[in-house]
Amino acid sequence: MIREGDKVLLIDRRGKRYLVTVSDREFHTDLGILKLGELIGKPYGSSITSHKGEEFRVIKPDINDIIAKMRRGPQIIHPKDAGIIIAYAGISPGDTVIEAGVGSGALTIFLANIVGPSGRVISYEIREDHAEIARKNVELAGFSDRVTIKLKDIYEGIDEERADHIVLDLPQPENVLPHAVEVLRPGGYFVAYTPCANQVHRFFQAFQEYREYFYRPRVVEVLVREQEIKKECMRPKTTMLAHTGYITFIRKL
Ligand code: SAM
Repeated sequence: MIREGDKVLLIDRRGKRYLVTVSDREFHTDLGILKLGELIGKPYGSSITSHKGEEFRVIKPDINDIIAKMRRGPQIIHPKDAGIIIAYAGISPGDTVIEAGVGSGALTIFLANIVGPSGRVISYEIREDHAEIARKNVELAGFSDRVTIKLKDIYEGIDEERADHIVLDLPQPENVLPHAVEVLRPGGYFVAYTPCANQVHRFFQAFQEYREYFYRPRVVEVLVREQEIKKECMRPKTTMLAHTGYITFIRKL
């Protein structure tokens, strides 16, 4: 049942999505005005009609809806990359993950979703404005209970004594290697997302000094080729997101 204060996703006949908080108020769209209070007590999957007679279907938003609608600061991690980070590092419910930088908080939201209410995501960020955007986005996703955003340069050190995994999206992940050696549990993953090949090269040059502490270095790039589905024909879309970043995994011994 939909309750007052719930966040819901409205979908109009064109497929346009609106993320709204339910309360006794009006919501204006180009297809007419909706009285959101009418949703209270209705089940998800039902619909609401605007004053112009336009029907909007109502569903519960998931984290992808939240991330699509949230405020952006710096470039966010794409879901295809977040997915492989979580899968290859085996990030699980109850884990403690240290993350940096938090940026807009998209990866933070994916991580908070997977660690669940018994897990923790501790996110380091050097820019106050980015930390503020991320804090609001994490709150919008409903994960403030398990996420801590710290205004601190992670290159200078990690305050926590132990972490299951460290996940980085910042320019020089190699600067975090000495701290990772101290806090990562055996079997935990160090993951670095970097857009450029020279960053990966620089990382592995620095890694030589730390290789006795880790095993199975692995670098992947994820390509997703979406298909166009028409009545008579399915074929790859003519454009695709060709490159986002390289993802480096090393596992603590
Ligand atoms: N992964 C984020 C997301 O999905 O929204 C985006 C991260 S953004 C590309 C990189 C962030 O790292 C920036 O906000 C930047 O301020 C932060 N950063 C850079 N160096 C840092 C450092 N040494 N310690 C903490 N944060 C850092």
